[in-house]
Amino acid sequence: MNNNEKFEGNAAVGVGTRVVWGGEQVQHPYNATQTPIVVSAAYGYNDIDAWYDVAQGKLPGYIYSRMSNPTVATLEAKLCELEQAESAVAFSSGMAAISAVLHTFLCTGKRVVSTRDSYGGTNKIFEEFLPRMGVQVCLCDTLDSEALEREIAAGCDVLYLETPTNPTLKVLDIPRLCAAARRVGAVVVADNTFATPLNQNPLALGVDVVVHSATKFLSGHGDVLGGVVCGAEPLMAQVRHYREINGAALDPFSAYLIIRGIKTLALRLRQQQASAQALAQYLSSEPLVEAVNYPGLPEHPGHAIAKAQMRGFGAIVSFVLKGGMPTVARLLPRLKYAHRAGNLGAVETIYGPARTTSHVENTLEERLALGISEGLVRISVGIEDTEDLLADLAQACASVRQELAAAKELHGDAYAGLAEVQA
Ligand SMILES: *Cc1c(COP(=O)(O)O)cnc(C)c1O
Repeated sequence: MNNNEKFEGNAAVGVGTRVVWGGEQVQHPYNATQTPIVVSAAYGYNDIDAWYDVAQGKLPGYIYSRMSNPTVATLEAKLCELEQAESAVAFSSGMAAISAVLHTFLCTGKRVVSTRDSYGGTNKIFEEFLPRMGVQVCLCDTLDSEALEREIAAGCDVLYLETPTNPTLKVLDIPRLCAAARRVGAVVVADNTFATPLNQNPLALGVDVVVHSATKFLSGHGDVLGGVVCGAEPLMAQVRHYREINGAALDPFSAYLIIRGIKTLALRLRQQQASAQALAQYLSSEPLVEAVNYPGLPEHPGHAIAKAQMRGFGAIVSFVLKGGMPTVARLLPRLKYAHRAGNLGAVETIYGPARTTSHVENTLEERLALGISEGLVRISVGIEDTEDLLADLAQACASVRQELAAAKELHGDAYAGLAEVQA
């Protein structure tokens, strides 16, 4: 038995309470208060009939940890509580989860409709791996809802959505696209990594299958890889079967770290998104910056939709620096409180250009075709004090502006692409 029963029918219980208690077993061995890390590959039975009944799913229990594992099962139950899902299946990474879902619901002759903006690895599955299997892939302009509706109506087995998108923070209208998918009986999958279950519950908006990279906000400390898929049990049974045979199971140590991380998700996210809003506002008036992407800004094209389907705008901000990569290369080393890395969703603030983060798998031509300019920088806002993050970004920008002004004096047009940048 796990704690999810305590919350049943009690909508008043807050999300800060659910992240802590959700999914945890009521009673642990030795009266331990924390979820044990069960490292057994297999589980032993003296009674062969009982063993067989567990293997057949007639009795609760475990057989082999590629099939199921108690620590992993606790993480899965926690996700069920947070996404209000009937069932969940955990994987060794977010990409393993996404691959498993796409391979579970697609085969030769089927058709998937999605958007041009999606996580770089997901985009590679669409462009490289699925066509090779004879799956028809149709990627629409992300913000063209009419085109998406048209392509869904033309024949669609899976509709794959990611919102807000990585790294451009575009917002898709989930209920509208789900309605179109329902008319043709398509399975709708949504990558909810950026929003987290606290800001957005796609299942409640009409989606069938939610995927998360648990590597990001769920675990929250940049020290573990994992992925989770959730939805109704009949669909999850198929996904679980795929994992059992194809083998990308989550290991119990990683499951434990993700469980531990989720307990502070509500606290972390509150601080992170307050700072994200402040940084986005600062960047909106920074002369070095050409564009800012954050759904929490009233002028963001997806602001109204985000407000309707999300409870918060998240902790990822991206912005485009004037002058492209040369300016990025000047700005990033000047930041004091930032990792320059490919991860996101951790307690530390992380800055990274798309070229080496979300779209490291893509070529320059592919990135430009996706509308991702070389000056684009993504900030994953950490839990540091807002004032410190603001001051750090402001000092780094001011210092770059000074350097550019001086370079312009000395070299004339030596920094040609940067000429428009003024102190
Ligand atoms: C990181 C990420 C993934 C992939 O997850 P991994 O755990 O790195 O495999 C998928 N989708 C989004 C939106 C991501 O940010």
